[in-house]
Amino acid sequence: MIDVETALQLVKDHAARLPPKRVPLDEAAGLILAEDVTSGIDSPPYDKALMDGYAVVASDRTPERAIIASVAAGEVPRHAVIPGTAMRIMTGAPVPEGADAVVRIEDTQSAEDGSTVTIGMPAPAPGKNILRRGVALRAGELLLKSGAWLRAIEIALLAEAGHAIVLVVPRPKVGVLSTGNELVPVESALAPGEIRNSNGPMLVAAAADAGAEPRALDIGRDDRAQLRDLVKQGLEHNLLLVSGGVSAGDFDLVPAVLKEVGVTEVFHKIALRPGKPLWFGIQKQSRGDTTLVFGLPGNPVSSLVCFEVFVRPAIAALAGREFAGPKMIPAALAHPYEHTGGRASYLPARLEPPPGKPPSAERLPSVKLLPWQGSADLAALRQANCFVSLPGESVKLATGDTIRVLRI
Ligand code: AMP
Ligand code: MG
Repeated sequence: MIDVETALQLVKDHAARLPPKRVPLDEAAGLILAEDVTSGIDSPPYDKALMDGYAVVASDRTPERAIIASVAAGEVPRHAVIPGTAMRIMTGAPVPEGADAVVRIEDTQSAEDGSTVTIGMPAPAPGKNILRRGVALRAGELLLKSGAWLRAIEIALLAEAGHAIVLVVPRPKVGVLSTGNELVPVESALAPGEIRNSNGPMLVAAAADAGAEPRALDIGRDDRAQLRDLVKQGLEHNLLLVSGGVSAGDFDLVPAVLKEVGVTEVFHKIALRPGKPLWFGIQKQSRGDTTLVFGLPGNPVSSLVCFEVFVRPAIAALAGREFAGPKMIPAALAHPYEHTGGRASYLPARLEPPPGKPPSAERLPSVKLLPWQGSADLAALRQANCFVSLPGESVKLATGDTIRVLRI
């Protein structure tokens, strides 16, 4: 049985970023850019008014100026402004030739008949309320580097610079296969001995949250032939999550079936509680990439712990983000706790903001372990917003001791 760190390293070694793909900009949010992108334009593409007001010659001292025209955003001014004149201009409109300042409407007074405007003194400085062409971006300038995470801001920049199609690392496709003769789909009534498949929907939700594109396969029976067919369907994804059937029971057929269809085992069983039966393997595909396969324990809490510790980082790596192990933060234990070692443990817990007023960055949040009935007790997790991570060794912890937690 290997430890969690060794297992994480093995997953990391096999979790390579997916080959990049061109997608329309409106499908690129949240993905990683796979090419350097330069701006196709100067931005703004013309000297642009930043206020509603009058375009004027800054050095002009004429108190009352003839209003020669009006220009709105989207229009092109057809007259030049010369001393003694002004042009009415709206925010976003191109500044007319000759003008080098925009005076805010609030700082002017126009004649009742609309033919002239008086510009309040002092005179505007040259460039006032004008965004010059190309000050934000120059054509040919590097806009975003390969590897950039495309948040809403980057999507807007790409749109501004005219990139309708972008090369990105695609969302990993994840197949979710729940196995067990006792399982029925969520919409079914329960016959004696049956339970609803909760892992399937949980793993689909978790995978989507991690940035993957999940797909639920049919429920697998504890039957080799049927499992084989479903596993083959699952292997068409970048990552396959099989839940259940990986322990030592008579009907735990998953490891054998995975091997039968040519998935190479990387490890089986790790020193983790809950989550000991975890199975991990890979299959090289004829199309050139590799499918990662996780056999997750059937117990829902174990499945979730394995997802958070191993699968979420793997999805991140496939998607071109960093493979970072579970992101732990420090917290102060709210009560004493005696941990019996044996295996590294992740226990459901509730994290609260640091005690005291005002909240201080120096004080750690406090964390309380939640009572639970073991790894089948999904309901105990309703109150949980983190797992407390405890080591393989036995430890006696006191109130206020600093421990590490994994937010969920
Ligand atoms: P297994 O790993 O197949 O031995 O399953 C361990 C425990 O998890 C058993 O009590 C199963 O009934 C339960 N279990 C397995 N798969 C699921 C699932 N998809 N949803 C809910 N519970 C499950
Ligand atoms: Mg089973």
